[in-house]
Amino acid sequence: MKRCRLHRLRMPLRQPTRTSYGVHTGRDLIIVELETVAGARGVAECVAMREPTYTEETVETAWHVLRDFLVGRLRGQVFHSVDHLDRFADSLLAIRGNAMARAGLEMAVWDAFAAETETPLYQLLGGQERDVPVGISLGMEDAVDTLVERAQAANRAGYQRIKLKVAPGEDVLPLRVLRDALPDLPLMADANSAYQDAPESTFAELDELSLMMIEQPLSPDDLVDHARLQHRIQTPICLDESIRSAADVRRAAEIGACGVINLKPGRVGGFTQSRRAHDQACAHGLGLWCGGMYETGIGRLHNIALCSLPGFQLPTDVGPSDQYFVEDIVEPPVRFCRPGFLRVEAMCGVAERVDWRSLQRYTVHSEQIDF
Ligand code: MG
Repeated sequence: MKRCRLHRLRMPLRQPTRTSYGVHTGRDLIIVELETVAGARGVAECVAMREPTYTEETVETAWHVLRDFLVGRLRGQVFHSVDHLDRFADSLLAIRGNAMARAGLEMAVWDAFAAETETPLYQLLGGQERDVPVGISLGMEDAVDTLVERAQAANRAGYQRIKLKVAPGEDVLPLRVLRDALPDLPLMADANSAYQDAPESTFAELDELSLMMIEQPLSPDDLVDHARLQHRIQTPICLDESIRSAADVRRAAEIGACGVINLKPGRVGGFTQSRRAHDQACAHGLGLWCGGMYETGIGRLHNIALCSLPGFQLPTDVGPSDQYFVEDIVEPPVRFCRPGFLRVEAMCGVAERVDWRSLQRYTVHSEQIDF
């Protein structure tokens, strides 16, 4: 590898989004850019957020770990095969935790390898060209009418399911209203771990709504309580924050902690772990879909490439660019190929799609490391 550039970006969100973690008005993120000795370019997005509320990582900690501990591991590296990429990803495990920082670098390496070998990224990952069904994730709203309007607009745009962020006391009523407004559209709830102390009756009520799944009701580090809950309710539990590696997928499956996995490459450390997590989910018969982290087009296109793997059958949270951003940093932006579907594209890495001028416009700080 010849050089690495780290870019810190601040992207304004189209509208503030509220979850059980708080209100988000903008998205701070890191773009990792690599250049190989042969001149190929690779990019990837580090999805750590400004605050350590989703996981312990932040943009600041990811920047520190990338610059001071991870990027240097590329010195002298020339990649020859997917096995080599996997070995490189495993070598990054010497750095404990910090999966989003690791993923930022690891996925840029995959991206550069796709460009250098002129191979479609989805092919390197072992997937197939296909159209991926897309669902929408709606934040909590103070007014139920606003929520229904948003859901109806999503339905008209073709979204294949609605996911509602919920918290104790803001769950059964809005879900029932959505179910009544759009009886044929699959509906699910995302609790972002807010139900740790919820009474038993709450889950009984949620269980009567015939939801596709309830995402991450309990604490991220508590597979055992998730397993106990899953045995009590019919609605499949989907694990998000709890899954930080392929081994976590196996553990969750073995104790019956869930029926579905929401896989985010940033949360498990990149493409190598994502492929293994996919294989574990398939081997144990778990449903699988790819979640979103308010990514720019760079992260979105990577997620869609991952969705080319056969196990990703449930609708993804990864939508078109204009879902969250006024302007994207890829050109053309990510758009539906038909209402409610994104096409896995045959691009040889995402770097070829980056609009560098637009990327620069949102960049607040960059640093270059030459090898
Ligand atoms: Mg979630």
